[in-house]
Amino acid sequence: MKKARNEVTQPQDAGERRRIPPVICYPVDTLPRPDLVAYQTAREGWRKVDEVVVPPREARCFSVPAGFFFRIVSIEGPQVGDLNLWAAQDLDERFFSGKTRALHGTHLSTGDQLWSCLPYLRPMATITYDTLDWYGFDEFGGSVHDVIGTRCDPYTHKLLSGHEYHHCCHSNLTRALADRVGRPREAVEVAVHDVLNVFMCTGFTRDTGQYFMKASPVRPGDYLEFFAEIDLLGALSACPGGDCSSEHSSDAAACHPLLVEIYEPKAAPAGWTSPPRNGYSRRHGD
Ligand SMILES: [Zn+2]
Repeated sequence: MKKARNEVTQPQDAGERRRIPPVICYPVDTLPRPDLVAYQTAREGWRKVDEVVVPPREARCFSVPAGFFFRIVSIEGPQVGDLNLWAAQDLDERFFSGKTRALHGTHLSTGDQLWSCLPYLRPMATITYDTLDWYGFDEFGGSVHDVIGTRCDPYTHKLLSGHEYHHCCHSNLTRALADRVGRPREAVEVAVHDVLNVFMCTGFTRDTGQYFMKASPVRPGDYLEFFAEIDLLGALSACPGGDCSSEHSSDAAACHPLLVEIYEPKAAPAGWTSPPRNGYSRRHGD
C-alpha cells in the first residue's frame, strides 16, 4: 500500500471509495486499427536495403521511408535499446511516449502504434512483429518494451550522484542526431525525447509504486519489427545499462551492440496510405 505521508484519518467509507471499479481513460474502440494481415503479407519477398550497427554505449541514426519496415535486432548478447523517432523532414514532429502509453498501455507489442506529439498526433510506426510476445507480464508486474521510462540522462545522474557520465542514452542520442543533421549538440539536444525502451523489462513496484527494471529476457536473434507509417528519421542508443539487470549511467554493465535493419516491401500493404496529420482545427476555442 502507498505510504501515508500525513497524519490523516480515513473517512468511514474509505473501503467503499477504494472499491469503485476503474474505467479505461482512453477506450480504443474508435481508434482506427492497422490491418496487420495486410502488413504481414507485404513482408513476403521484401528486400533488405540497409543496416546500421549501433555500438555499445553509443547511438546511431537511420532513415526509413514511409511504407518500409525496420527491425531492431539483438545480436551478441542481451541489450536494451532506447528509440527516438522524428518525422524525416521536421524534427518538431517526434514520438510522443506519454500519449502512446495513454492509448496502448505501459508496454507495447504487435499491433500497437507509436504516435507523434501534438499538434501532429498521428501514427509514426506500427509494431508488426515482436519475438518477445511470449513474455507477457511476469509475477512482479514487469513486461518488455515500455513507454514509462524516459531515457537515462546525465542531468538526473548528476542530481542523484553528483558525478558526470557522458554515455547515457540522452547524450548518445544527442551526439548521433547532431552528427546526422550537421548541427551543434546544444542545438539538437532539445529534439531528443522520451523513448520506447526496446527489450527493456520494467514495471512499478506494488508497495511503493517505484519504477523498476530487471534483466531483459532478450537473446540474440530476438527482434522488434516496425512498419514506417511516415518518412522517419530514427535514432537508437545501446543503453549503458546493457540488459538493465543492475545499473545504468555507468560503464559497469556488460554491453552489446544492436542491429537496425531496413526492409523495402515489393508493394505497399493492400489499402494502406500514409496517415495525414491530426485533423483538429487548432482553434482552441474563442
Ligand atoms: Zn539508457
